[in-house]
Amino acid sequence: MKKIFIDNFKRKPEEYFWSPGRVNIIGEHSDYHDGFVMPVAIDLGITWSVSKNGDNVRGYTEKFDEIGRFRIDAKDRTYFEWMLYLQGVVEVLKKRNKKFGGIDFAIHSTIPIGSGLSSSSSLATGFAYILNEIYKIGLGRKEIAKVACEAEWWYGTTGGIMDQYCIANGKAGNAVLLDCRKMTHVYVPIPKDIKMVIFETTIRHKQISSPFALRKKQAHEAVEVARQYFKDDKIKMLRDITKKMLEEIKPSIIKKFGKRKGEMIYRRSKHPIYERDRVLEMKEALMKDDLRKIGKILAECHKSLRDNYEVSCKELDIAVDISQGIKGYIGSRMIGGGFGGCTLNLVKRGQEHHFAGEMEEIFRKRTEIKGNSYICNSSDGVRKIPNNK
Ligand code: ADP
Ligand code: MG
Repeated sequence: MKKIFIDNFKRKPEEYFWSPGRVNIIGEHSDYHDGFVMPVAIDLGITWSVSKNGDNVRGYTEKFDEIGRFRIDAKDRTYFEWMLYLQGVVEVLKKRNKKFGGIDFAIHSTIPIGSGLSSSSSLATGFAYILNEIYKIGLGRKEIAKVACEAEWWYGTTGGIMDQYCIANGKAGNAVLLDCRKMTHVYVPIPKDIKMVIFETTIRHKQISSPFALRKKQAHEAVEVARQYFKDDKIKMLRDITKKMLEEIKPSIIKKFGKRKGEMIYRRSKHPIYERDRVLEMKEALMKDDLRKIGKILAECHKSLRDNYEVSCKELDIAVDISQGIKGYIGSRMIGGGFGGCTLNLVKRGQEHHFAGEMEEIFRKRTEIKGNSYICNSSDGVRKIPNNK
């Protein structure tokens, strides 16, 4: 780490930092319905070596073997695409009237890019944390997550705060159970005999229009019906509807929208409503070390994403199907937005290498696609590290 900094900046770095990637165990397509999510910071992440530097931000990334730069007072967006996440952080901090200077940094990352492990949020959250530390800006971890989230919006994405929150607050050995409405969390210990294997299908199916905005709208139709049916203005999001309430209003949904559309709206809203309970059940199952229950909850989640929310695809279903026949399997589901991307597999410790290899081999045989397995553990969130390597 020290070496790539010295090679590029011809001086020694002053400090070292770590920012992890993340995976979400359960609570998929839940954050924007005000629900619960349960991400884990992982030991695939970015190692940073940094030093102060006047008013410039200059960064070397091993991934692209490139030095990017911009001035803190720059009016234009930097030409270096990956530096835009960092310029986003700078712009958000400036908007909040924070005083700080520039830095030189070099990064080494083990997070695959664009594979659903949130390399972009690791970059943005890591940078926000580093500026905050080095220039003593005084932000807490929650605030750092917000700054990083807004930085990603500045870049041009529209996601929720789950990733940055988890990267800022992660704790080794634990998942972060985040209440997306209250923006508070509790830690849930992960049993020691569980390993995580991410399987990347490498497939991304093109969608005609914005499928997530559409799902959000469709699922939300149930909120209006519930508000009228129960005559309760406190019902604002799917978060406020229980499973029992949903079953009770099902006939009203069908009456309002007709059988075909009504059934569809019921299924769309069913996913986030049942998912909220799954997150809370997962907390219990993890705390009791109940591997069978953990697997069952993941399987139900996948089924619901496939049949109710309809965001899975053939390759993801095949990956989940294959996992069930491999030694060490505890549970598996698709993760992330959907229509491609990755599955999360929870695997018994000691079997993870065999499992990872089998996934790649059997998937290739069945689909003729070369997928990738990544084995990971939980890790601490963003932090300063000692380093002299
Ligand atoms: P992900 O799911 O991994 O977050 P995104 O498309 O949201 O995928 O973000 C990937 C982008 O983040 C990359 O195109 C690049 O701009 C930036 N990025 C991630 N990791 C690195 C890295 N190690 N070095 C430079 N840029 C990176
Ligand atoms: Mg991202």
